[in-house]
Order: sequence, then C-alpha cells, then structure tokens
Amino acid sequence: MRRLPLLIGGREVETEEWMAVTDPGDGTTIAEVAAGTDRDVDAAVESAAAAMVEWQALGPVGRARALERYAQVFNAGLGELAELMHAEMGKPLPEAQAEVARAGEVMTYFAAEAERVLVSQVPGATVASGSWIRPAPIGVVAAITPWNFPVALVSWKLGPALAAGCAVISKPAIEAPLAARRVCEMAIEAELPPGLVNCLTGDGPPLGEALATHPGVAKVAFTGSRRVAEQIAAWTAPRLKALSLELGGHGPLVVLPDADLDVTAEVAVMQGYANAGQACYSVNRVLAPPALAGDLLERMRERIAALELGPMATDRGFARHETLVADARERGATVEGGEPVGPNRLAPALVTGAGPGTMVVDEEPFTPIVTVMEMDDVDAAVAEANRPDYGLVGYVCGTDLRRTLEVAQSIDSGTVVINGWRVVTPFAPYAGWNGSGVGTELGRPGLEAFVRWQHLRVFA
Ligand code: NAD
Repeated sequence: MRRLPLLIGGREVETEEWMAVTDPGDGTTIAEVAAGTDRDVDAAVESAAAAMVEWQALGPVGRARALERYAQVFNAGLGELAELMHAEMGKPLPEAQAEVARAGEVMTYFAAEAERVLVSQVPGATVASGSWIRPAPIGVVAAITPWNFPVALVSWKLGPALAAGCAVISKPAIEAPLAARRVCEMAIEAELPPGLVNCLTGDGPPLGEALATHPGVAKVAFTGSRRVAEQIAAWTAPRLKALSLELGGHGPLVVLPDADLDVTAEVAVMQGYANAGQACYSVNRVLAPPALAGDLLERMRERIAALELGPMATDRGFARHETLVADARERGATVEGGEPVGPNRLAPALVTGAGPGTMVVDEEPFTPIVTVMEMDDVDAAVAEANRPDYGLVGYVCGTDLRRTLEVAQSIDSGTVVINGWRVVTPFAPYAGWNGSGVGTELGRPGLEAFVRWQHLRVFA
C-alpha cells in the first residue's frame, strides 16, 4: 500500500491521520494520503511565501526557463498521470490520456507566457519619467480543485499562477488526489524553488477553510460546486481576498434548421456522456426543431449504443442519477437507458418529453443523462438555452456560418462551441458566466488573473 505524505517546502511531510483513496470501479483501497491540518496549512503558506522571494529574483526569463523544465517533466510523465487518474476516479484510460495531454499543453503554453510578463511605460517628459505599469504577482495562491478533471484543473491554475510569479498550494479533492499530487511532486523534480508548489491532501472542508481564511493566502482559485463556492466566498469576502470560481454548467446545444445532423449527434453524444457525464462542459439539453428531432434522436441512439462508460467516480453521483431518472419519469418524461449495468456503472440515459420544472432540465445533472427538447423556433431555443442560472459552455450546430455565429453570440455563456465538441485550448479564456462562476482561467486573461497591477508614477 502506497502512503503518500504532504508536499510542503519541497519535502515530504508525514501526518498523524491518513485517508484512503479507493478505486471507484471495485471499491478497493489503492493508496493512503496524508490528512493535512491547520498546522500544515501554516507551514505551506510560510514555505510558499519564502519561495516566492526566490522566484521573483529569477525574473521573467529565469522563470520561463524553470517552467520549461517543469513542462518537460510533466510531459514525460503523461502515461503515469493517466494511469493514476484511471485508477483513482475510474476515467477510461483513453479519456484520461487525452486529459493529461491537454494539461501538458497548458503547462507548455504558460511556460512560454512567463517570458511575456511585460512592464509597459507611458513616457513622460524625460526618458525615465512617466507611468510604469507593472504586473506584480498577486501572492500565494490556494488552488482548490475537484475530482472530475483532477490533472487539467490543477494545470489551469499552476501554469498561469507560476508564470505570473506566484507560489501555489494545491488542495486536490480527496476522491482523486493521486494524480494531482504527482503533478506537484514533479515541480520538485524539475527543481523549482522548494515550496513554490505545495500539495495538501486531506479532508476538503477543514483544509478549505484554513486556506481561505489564512492571512498569508492572497487568492483562492476554486473549481467545484456552487454550494462549496458560496462557502469559500463567505470566508474570503470579509478578508478581501481575490477569488476565482469555476463552477458547474447546464450546457445547451442549439440545433439550427440547417444543421448537419451527423455532426450534431456527434457533439450531443460526445459531450453528453464524456466522463460518464461528470463534466462541467457537458451537453445537457439538446434544443432541436420539431422537424429534425426524430432523425437526430435516431442518430444519437446509434452512437449511444456503441458507448461504454467508466464507473461513476462517487456513490453520490450514482445515487443522484437514480433521483434524476425517477424525477423525470414522475413528471411524465420518457427515459431510455440509464439503468445500472455493473458496480457503480450506469448505461447512458436519453430523456425526451421533459420541460422546465424537471430536475434534469433545471439543475446541472453531472451524470450520464441528456435531454432532447423540441423548440418551435430559434428564438425559443435561445431563450431556453439561457433560462437556467448557468453560463459555462454552450453549443450551436448550423451550416450557415453567419447565422450560426449570430446565434452563438446570443448564448449567455463564457464559451460557445460551433459545429464541434472540443472546448478548451490553452490560449483562449475559459470563464463561467452568471451562476457558473466568477473570473477567468486560461489564455492571457487567465494569466492576468494572478497579477495585481502596480503603477509607478516616475518624475525623473
Ligand atoms: P466540490 O465543490 O464538492 O469539491 C471541490 C473541491 O472543494 C474539492 O477539493 C473538495 O475537497 C473541496 N471542498 C469540499 N467541501 C468543501 C468545503 N466545505 N470547504 C472548502 N472546500 C471544500 O465539487 P465536486 O463535486 O468535486 O466537483 C463537481 C463540481 O465541479 C460540478 O458542479 C462541476 O460542474 C464543477 N466543475 C467546474 C469546472 C469548471 O471549470 N467550471 C470544471 C470541473 C468541475
């Protein structure tokens, strides 16, 4: 049995309490991780603050070289990270491999960005005078991440925070801490300053509170549920800490009358059931013209028949799925599939005949269930797309590009994907609008989210 200590100040730190990490496929314990306490949070914050001094002294070019080393170590370990993720949260290996490969691209991208943390000057009367505008690092960052994309979501915080000159304390979810911890360990192997990247495993609520209330933590970068986000916001608000919240979504797919139905079915099924529906960017509601709905459903069913989902990562998810299916049936909707097919495993569920007031249409499902809703016209589809209080990722399928872009702009969400299902690239911002969050990750705005601007007004 592997026992994995905390990582603080570039060293392994043992704790009194340990927590088991289980394989959700069969419930066996695969490792134990240290359960950090308030004292460990104090030590991690102290180490991070000290490491930031060393990190600052390197300057942007030195930091970029160091982050290139980190990205190399990370990219050399993709296979190992994918295996860990597959074991700890049940993500099928090909999906886990894709996730870590994309996370490697994020690390590479932000290593390059570290060199482009530029000071700008508005010149004054002499060459030295004027306004110098300096992007200073925001400070020590607490990165609190969920289990569903355990490597990607750590890389989205680590890459830009380190590039901006910050130090990071990672607190991965206890359901899947192994791959995220390994990512932090790689920072030590890449010889980043000790303490620049720390990892505190353990129980979410006490560690989350200790981090979010610690005077030495300047920013909390959180991805997870709205319930926990509100709690974290309540801790950070009176302490005036910076905060980013990347929360759940309720992805609409607006199908235009001229959509290619094979492309549309591919998008609906890929994004509806990827990661067994446990994805923030899932397609949850397919909003189709009545004349196309039957044909589209047939094409979706063909693709669904070929799917084999991994186990649900948590018992909560499994139980929630049963609740969603029962609620939909009680309210008169038709549910195809969705039954248990093995330990913690579900068949994909396809819902028709459901409308607002049904749980699956109003709340983020976060299980493998997609609802197809018939919409009389495009305006009605857009209104339904924007109805629930979310705004993470929307999808539009249509062949008239001008019309498709117009409709895409009317979708009230931080990302809209047109005629495809790939959502994320390192160079474009990813932001939850409305109830899906506050702040931005990735791209240039994602780097600047870890910056505080200093104006040096020089008279010389
Ligand atoms: P969660 O909110 O339960 O947990 C997220 C993190 O918070 C974990 O590290 C957990 O240990 C910690 N935590 C739990 N309770 C806490 C508390 N009381 N105080 C402080 N920290 C606490 O979320 P989850 O169930 O692991 O993740 C699922 C949610 O995350 C879904 O809503 C999903 O859509 C969302 N998500 C969003 C994005 C995005 O980028 N917008 C990406 C992935 C997942």
